[in-house]
Amino acid sequence: MKSTPVEELFYEFDETTKILQDELSCTYLDALGETGENFFQGKVMQEEISEESKKVLTKHYTEFSLEKYEKEAIRKAYQLSILKGMQQSVQPNHHMTPDAVGIFVSYLVGKFTAKQKELVMLDPAVGTGNLLFAIMNQLTDKNIESYGVEIDETLIRLAYAGANLQEHPLSFFNQDSLEPLFIDPSDVVVSDLPVGYYPNDVRAAEYELKAENGHSYAHHLFIEQSVNHVKDGGYLFFIVPNNLFVSEEAPNLNDYLKKYTHIQGMVQLPLSMFKNEAAGKSILILQKKKDGVEAPKKALLVQLPKLSDFEATRSVMEQMDQWFKEEK
Ligand code: SAM
Repeated sequence: MKSTPVEELFYEFDETTKILQDELSCTYLDALGETGENFFQGKVMQEEISEESKKVLTKHYTEFSLEKYEKEAIRKAYQLSILKGMQQSVQPNHHMTPDAVGIFVSYLVGKFTAKQKELVMLDPAVGTGNLLFAIMNQLTDKNIESYGVEIDETLIRLAYAGANLQEHPLSFFNQDSLEPLFIDPSDVVVSDLPVGYYPNDVRAAEYELKAENGHSYAHHLFIEQSVNHVKDGGYLFFIVPNNLFVSEEAPNLNDYLKKYTHIQGMVQLPLSMFKNEAAGKSILILQKKKDGVEAPKKALLVQLPKLSDFEATRSVMEQMDQWFKEEK
C-alpha cells in the first residue's frame, strides 16, 4: 500500500530521531529537535556522532527532499513525532495544543482580522509552536510574522526546528514570559495558557492581577502581560479553563478586563475533546480598548458541538457568521 505524505515524513523524522537519541544519549524529544535542525541544514550538525551513524543520517538529510511536501503535512508529521516523544517522557508541562483547537482558533483569528493582510502575532506560551503553525498554515492569505516565548528549552528547540522546516518567519525567546519582554506590541496574541500558580511572588507583585494573598494565577498574569503587548485595538485569543470566571480571583480579572479590553466572546470547545467536564476549555476573545472602538452590542457566546456532528457544527458556524455580519 502506498504511504501518505504524512507517513513518509513521520518515517524520516522517526528513523533519524532514534539514531540521534542513541548516539547522543538524550530523550526522543531532544533528538527530534536536533534532527529537525539537521533536515533544515541538510547535514549532521552534531559533532559527537559515530562515523557509521553519520553516514546513515547524511543519506537521510541529503536524499530526502522536504520541499515537495506541503507545510501542513510537515506540521502534522512533526506533531505525530512530538506526541510519540511526549509519551516516552511524560512531563506535566509538556502539552501541545490539539489540531481541533488550532482549527477553531484559526477560523476566529481569520474572521476578526479579515481586513488585515499583514499581521504580527505573539504567542507568549508557544510550547512546540503547534498552535501558531496551525494558524499560519491556515491563514495563507495573510503575511504573518510571529513571535513565540517559552520557558522550556526542549519545547522551544522543537518550535524553532518546526518553524524552519515549515519556513515560517518566527522569532523565539527562551524565557519566562512574565519577566519583561523585549518585543514590540503585536496586532494579535494567541495562546494556550499555562494554568496554575505562578511561583515568583516578587515578579507577580508587578501585575494588577496579582493575588492579594499567596501565589497568583499564572494564567491571569499571562492575560495581563498579553494585553500589555498587544496594540490598541488588537485582538487576543486565549485557550482558558471553562471555569475562568468562577475562581475567588475572578472578580479582579473581570474588573481588569472591563477596564482595558472589550470582551468579544467566549467560545466553549466541544466537551468531547476533554477527559472530563472539569478539564473543559474555551477560547476567550478580547480586544484591547482603543479610542473610537466600541464594545460589541452582545458578546459571541457559543458552545461548539462535536466536530463529527456535522449538522450541529454547521448550525453553530451559521450562528457565528451571523454574529460577524452584525458586529464587524
Ligand atoms: N500552544 C502550545 C503548543 O501547541 O505546543 C502549547 C502551550 S502549553 C498549554 C503552555 C506552555 O506554557 C507550556 O509549553 C509551558 O512550558 C509554557 N509556560 C509555562 N509557564 C511559562 C512562563 N512563565 N513563561 C513562558 N512559558 C511558560
